Amino acid sequence: MRYAILSDIHANLEALTAVLADAADAADAVLCLGDIVGYGADPEACVDLVGERAQAVVAGNHEYGVGGRMDLDWFNPYARAAAEWTATRLGREHHAWLRSLPLTAEVEDATLVHASPDHPEEWDYLVDPEDGFEAFEAFGTRLCFVGHSHRPAQWSLGSSGPDHEPGATDVSLVAGRRYIVNVGSVGQPRDRDPRAAYAVWDVPARRVVLRRVPYDITTARRKIVAAGLPRMLGDRLSIGV
Ligand code: ZN
Repeated sequence: MRYAILSDIHANLEALTAVLADAADAADAVLCLGDIVGYGADPEACVDLVGERAQAVVAGNHEYGVGGRMDLDWFNPYARAAAEWTATRLGREHHAWLRSLPLTAEVEDATLVHASPDHPEEWDYLVDPEDGFEAFEAFGTRLCFVGHSHRPAQWSLGSSGPDHEPGATDVSLVAGRRYIVNVGSVGQPRDRDPRAAYAVWDVPARRVVLRRVPYDITTARRKIVAAGLPRMLGDRLSIGV
């Protein structure tokens, strides 16, 4: 089994369709780590596609923000403007589906979670080595896939010591070690590579490989401006920050 693991789509339909097309060959099933909505201009279409295609989906902080389950004072002004706009663009069924998403899910020997597996509802970022190493006690599976920072990375623990690799693109799963892998962002990468990012977890090959997919950034950016969303949310797509 090969799983395509998508996170932080952020209502970017052009990026999502490009990734799903790439994953049609590269993977057998789709998993989603949340933040399907927020920032981009196509929240309903992205929710529909993820709902149709994904075998398991967990909620991100943007699902909580849009659904009124998180105080928007925690969001920066751009994220807040996008969350308020998105809330008005989603129908009752879409809101209900987003509210139904769990904070964590397990698939095979992996935990899926948007932010830190340690109190996922607090939406802590895993950035530094210690952030990841301290989070291993919070889940019981061998692997944990996360998003939230929009930057690929891996942390691992085992008898040969701790390891942290920011920007990891190819993780070989060594027997006896446990791993946290950040799969990057489909719809708003922040690692200065504007191509959409997602990961393929190849279970029999014991490997997690990050894939980058070019997509129609010009259209995604134009739609953000046309929707009246902050222009900066379109501009940042071209530079991947
Ligand atoms: Zn996000």
